[in-house]
Amino acid sequence: MLNKTKVVVTIGPATAEKEQLKRLMQNGMDVARLNMSHAKYPFCQEVAEKIQELNQELHLSVALMVDLMGPEVRTGRFLNGQAYFRKGDKVRIYMDEVEGDSTKFSVSYSDLIKEVSYNNIIKVKDGLMMFEVIGMETDYIICEVLTDGVIEDHQTVTVEGVKLHLPSMTKKDETDIIFADKIHADFLAISYVSSQEDVLVASDILMGLKNDSMEIISKIETEEGVNHLDEIIRVSDGIMVARGDLGVDIPLERVPGVQKKIIDKCHKAGIVSIVATELLSSMEKMVRPTRAEVSDVANAVLDGADAVMLSNETTVGKFPIETLNMMEKIINSAEKDIDYLEFLSTKEEQDTDITGMISHSVAECAGRLHCCAIIAPTMSGYTARKMSHCRPCCPIIAVSPNESTVKSLQLHFAVNPVLIKEMKDFDEIIEVSKQVTFDLISTKPGDKIIITGGYPFESVKSTNFMKIEEL
Ligand code: PEP
Repeated sequence: MLNKTKVVVTIGPATAEKEQLKRLMQNGMDVARLNMSHAKYPFCQEVAEKIQELNQELHLSVALMVDLMGPEVRTGRFLNGQAYFRKGDKVRIYMDEVEGDSTKFSVSYSDLIKEVSYNNIIKVKDGLMMFEVIGMETDYIICEVLTDGVIEDHQTVTVEGVKLHLPSMTKKDETDIIFADKIHADFLAISYVSSQEDVLVASDILMGLKNDSMEIISKIETEEGVNHLDEIIRVSDGIMVARGDLGVDIPLERVPGVQKKIIDKCHKAGIVSIVATELLSSMEKMVRPTRAEVSDVANAVLDGADAVMLSNETTVGKFPIETLNMMEKIINSAEKDIDYLEFLSTKEEQDTDITGMISHSVAECAGRLHCCAIIAPTMSGYTARKMSHCRPCCPIIAVSPNESTVKSLQLHFAVNPVLIKEMKDFDEIIEVSKQVTFDLISTKPGDKIIITGGYPFESVKSTNFMKIEEL
């Protein structure tokens, strides 16, 4: 199944064994995500090494994303990893680390006690659990439990209507960026981005590390982020619609509209968009998703997202491989309902330079001639990126001798990046590209393909040729 919409899979205890990672890689995982809100360095290091080994063994180029925790407040640890809270009970929320149980737990932000007032509602676990502030002591807040339920270790904590005075990038985030560089992460996801400055701080750290290949994905999860979307898009390589926290900060019913707006703006700006969180949530426990979840995945595809993401389903879920297979099946079916030429017609006005014009023509020819692949030999990934934003009807096979280019293309709609050895001769590159395409999609005599790129490969900055061939 060569789907065009990419899948980001978050790795956790349920998927960290080499055999599980191998199955994820063989079943369509394009990018493996490490969530620094939960994952510890030795765990991340091991996963990164296993993926690198498996990429070589399986001749794949699965990319790695490190997702920063960001300036967020989380609960501490609980005895046996979780505790049950009953509506009407009183609990103490401590500023210093304590082992939590049904009567108390701690939070990671010691100033919380100074910034909340009586009657504020403290929301835990993306708002699923709620506590009303009814008293304060020197080192803890007293609350009444408003909802029955379970809280596990390290769940998110927010206060309704209160903007906490957290720094935009924490010391932990800075250390995590250095770690991401060390394990050669391809994407850095920044949490709670609310302005372009938040992104530039991370870019500066990467520049200081002389890392110019790690791509920045800004997570939009607050009203402020939504309000500053245009400036954030200008300095980001991609945007994640982080619906978990977004649905806590803005009314839940606004999330679908914001999702569509973000995807649309990313298209117009030519950067990637990722739809995240709870896409197949019920598959954490059950082997089949709900109809509503199937619709949610399909709608993300029909909205035009470049990628969809799995979180708890694959970190702690019971059926991680089945969930990924289900995701791929839904994507495959939804992509058959996309009117690619109709999409292209809405893009016309933006494609006014040479690369834009050629990419547009390639996508149009591919649609009208029913081509089975677009082949894009590339050094920087430029041609493949431009092609991807024209949403062609067939896969784009992007061959490159540059490993970081290949990995960076893993989030782009329809792009199948393949690492090849360095070659100089044009005809040789085309022959190798055709062989790679045959290996991926078993082309047959009579099939039509389009080859596009910028020639000479190493010196030209734009896409300047297209060649249509009947095999
Ligand atoms: C989200 O909030 O939807 C999200 C993707 O972020 P995290 O998993 O870090 O909470």
